[in-house]
This record gives sequence, C-alpha cells and structure tokens, in this order.
Amino acid sequence: MLVSLMVPCYNEEEALPYLYEALCKVMQECPKYEYELIFVNDGSRDKTLSLLRDLAAKDSRIRYISFSRNFGKEAAMYAGLSAAKGEWIGLLDADMQDPPSLLPQMFDMLEKDECDIVATRRVSRKGEPPIRSWFARRFYHLINRFTDVEIVDGARDFRVMRRPVVDAILSLNERQRFSKGIFAWVGFRTKWLEFENVERIAGETKWSFWKLFRYAIEGIVSFTTAPLRIATVVGFLTSFGSFIYLLYYFVHAIIHLIWKDRPGYPSLLSFMLFLGGMVLMALGVIGEYLAKTYIEVKRRPLYVIAEDNKKEEDQ
Ligand code: UDP
Ligand code: MG
Repeated sequence: MLVSLMVPCYNEEEALPYLYEALCKVMQECPKYEYELIFVNDGSRDKTLSLLRDLAAKDSRIRYISFSRNFGKEAAMYAGLSAAKGEWIGLLDADMQDPPSLLPQMFDMLEKDECDIVATRRVSRKGEPPIRSWFARRFYHLINRFTDVEIVDGARDFRVMRRPVVDAILSLNERQRFSKGIFAWVGFRTKWLEFENVERIAGETKWSFWKLFRYAIEGIVSFTTAPLRIATVVGFLTSFGSFIYLLYYFVHAIIHLIWKDRPGYPSLLSFMLFLGGMVLMALGVIGEYLAKTYIEVKRRPLYVIAEDNKKEEDQ
C-alpha cells in the first residue's frame, strides 16, 4: 500500500535535512508500506529548492513541486494533497514541530482503529509567546461559538488521512482556504493523538501578528455568516432604542417648551456618532463578505507551478 507524506516548505533549508532524516527513519521503521514524499516549495527565497532537487536526485520516492512565488501554506497543502497518489495521506510541517516520530503510531491507529483520520493536537503551548497563546485561545472560543464546525483548540494540520477524506477536502475548491475549518467540515471518524509542543528545530516561524490576525478573520468569515446577523440585530436594537428616545424627546421638548429651556445638543451629537459608528462597522462586515465573494468569483488558480520533477507521471 502506498503512503504519501506531504510537506509544505517555505524557507526551510535549515530544517529540511533533519526532516528528511527523520522521515527516512520512519520509513525504515514501517517497511510494510510503500512511500511517496511530496515536498511543496512555496516560493522559498533560500536554498530550499536546490536542496529538494538534490534530495530528489538521490531518492526516487521524492516528488517536489515548486511554486512560482509564495502562495501560502494553504495553497501548498492543496497542491500537495492533489499530487498525492497514496491510499493514506500524511501531512506535516517541515520544521519538526509535527514530530515525524509519531507517524508509526499514527499508522498503527489507522490500521487498527475504526477511523479515517488520525489527527494530532498540542496539549501545551510551551515556548510560544503568551500573548500569541491568549489570542489563539480567544480565537478558538469565538469560532466554535459562531460556526457550525467544531475546531479543536491546539489541533495541528499534522494528520494522516484515508483517500476518501482527502478527496472530500479537495472537493471543497474555494480559493481562500481555511484548512482547520475545512478539515472539521468534511467530518469522518477522527482519532486524536496528543503531544507536547515542540519548538521548531531551525529557521523562523512564518507567522507575524498581522498574518495571524488576518487568518483569524478569514477563519470566521469562511465558516459563518453570523457577523452579518449580528450587524442586523445590533441595527435593529439601535433603531428601536432611538425610537424610544424620540418619544422621550417629544415629551421632554414639550415640557421644555413650557419652561423655555435649551435642548441637549451634546446628547444628540453623541447619539449620532454612535449610530455612525454602528453603520460603518456593519458596512465593514458586509465588505468582508463582499470581498470574499469577489475573490471567489474570479476563480483564479490557487497557485502557479514553476517546477515539478514528476509532472509527466500525472498524465
Ligand atoms: N509554510 C508555507 N508557506 C507559508 C508559510 C509557511 O508553506 O507561506 C510552511 C512552513 O514551511 C512550515 C509550515 O508551513 O512547514 C508551518 O509554518 P511555520 O512553522 O512557520 O508555522 P508555525 O509552526 O509557527 O505555526
Ligand atoms: Mg512551525
């Protein structure tokens, strides 16, 4: 049986040799399967590509697909999953934060247990900046509250799946992909394997605060339209409130007319500013969805391949 292992790589020249070694060890440990290693070079600026060329020249199990520029991890995963021919497909990061040493156990679970996916989750966030962990937890809280899919806190993309699962994932062909949600959305019987956080072996994380923030918004907008509903509800409540205020104001004005007092401009102004803010916010929310729709209707490809050492085998 063929097992495909796929790895998205972006500037991973330092980590790749370790990863390859670790994968070789896994393949030796479980010799009953055949293997295919798929590396997707996501427009790295370092020597990742030449490293992959060298590895592929030595090891015929290696397939590398190289993008014309950086398209992001989601695109890289899609490319890798599309290329995978195995009956089982494994997905892992290049930096050893998804310990390859867990793979034999995952294969075992898939073989024995009645499940279609063996997924992993980090039970600690040791070594991560506390502020990042805090935001991550808030994000999971929010997304699980507002969406239909349940995303497990600490769930990694690191997983081994059966062929039907991968076909289902590939059938969701939206442009802006939010894999954590997509994995949860397709369902199937999942077994979770827990492990302690491991720091990346070399190189640097590719995530900046803003990238993560965009990713969080992306996740929410991709899987729920609840924010639109919130805008409607808040709009309704504020109009209702201002209607009550208007009634109150009439009564007040009449009383003031009798006593010849001045009306309250400051309260009027603050009300208008409040409403203006609400309207802008609601427009922003609508804008998010509109922008998403705009990008989806363009139907651009997810990535552009510049080099692929086994392209002809696909045809
Ligand atoms: N990655 C990628 N394209 C990107 C960013 C990251 O293919 O634009 C890959 C990266 O090489 C690694 C994995 O995605 O194999 C996870 O990236 P990273 O370790 O930087 O993320 P973190 O572990 O900090 O969440
Ligand atoms: Mg990492």
